[in-house]
Amino acid sequence: MFMTVRFIQRYFFQPLQKMQDQVKAIRSGNLAVEVKYDGTDEFGEIYSEVNLMRIRMRAQMQRQQDNDKRRSRLMASISHDLRTPLTSIQGYVEGLQDGIVKDKETYDRYLETILIKTEALNHLIDDLSVFAKQELGEFSLNKDRINSGALLNSYFKQKESEFALSNVNLILERPFVSTFIEVDRYRFVQILENLMSNAKKYTDTTVRVYTSVKDYQLQIFIEDDGHGIPQSSIPHLFDYFYMVNKKKDQKEKMGSGLGLAICKNLITAHKGDISVTSSEGNGSTFMISIPIDL
Ligand code: ADP
Repeated sequence: MFMTVRFIQRYFFQPLQKMQDQVKAIRSGNLAVEVKYDGTDEFGEIYSEVNLMRIRMRAQMQRQQDNDKRRSRLMASISHDLRTPLTSIQGYVEGLQDGIVKDKETYDRYLETILIKTEALNHLIDDLSVFAKQELGEFSLNKDRINSGALLNSYFKQKESEFALSNVNLILERPFVSTFIEVDRYRFVQILENLMSNAKKYTDTTVRVYTSVKDYQLQIFIEDDGHGIPQSSIPHLFDYFYMVNKKKDQKEKMGSGLGLAICKNLITAHKGDISVTSSEGNGSTFMISIPIDL
């Protein structure tokens, strides 16, 4: 009789008691300690299931914490990116209001700067809005079957006038490939806009655009002759918030490190791809490819 009680105590109540303690520890949030059982009986399986549950819960908690951290970093970054051009616009407007600007030339320069910063702000808000939608899983495309030649001609016609006002040369190798692609016109233009605005920002003298077809894909190349991108940066270039030279890009180029990540996401959503080749000192060529809609 005594033996039976000891047997039940040792092989039944003790493992159960230990299990209860460990489940209590998990419930109170301690997910770090491994749930282990040394015996070879049926309890082993239950212990290993509970241990698996603990590992999964810990991974889920870690993901949640990472997401929370990412969100707060994102909020800080967004506020900073919006505040910088706004503060600058405010400064110029106040300068004009105070009447410190006397000559027409400076007056026009102030207005021109306000316009450029407002455009950059608009562009940034577009990028941030896509980014926020993608983060919240609320992003969708309104695709249509569109003629690539017509789309590119209309977009680049407007770019020609914009570049004519700048000191950057724009070479368009017409005719552009004329084929059908299935795209969200607004989003597709946003991809081109991001790449063209980078090319214009980072080039030395010239931006060249040309198209071709390879393996049933329409390819669009945007080439600049700027300082190029270090090879070590290329693997990170399409990551959110990545900038080659954060201080300089943010301050001088009003960058946010969002543009290329958004391009990558948008083109992937169109079943296409984006890539870059670059040589330091000689410039970069960005290529987007998108399946032809046969
Ligand atoms: P940003 O809004 O800062 O331009 P992007 O995601 O578009 O962000 O670009 C990320 C970084 O890649 C930029 O900060 C810049 O350093 C680099 N970059 C992008 N395009 C070019 C280019 N054509 N030539 C040189 N560097 C570039």
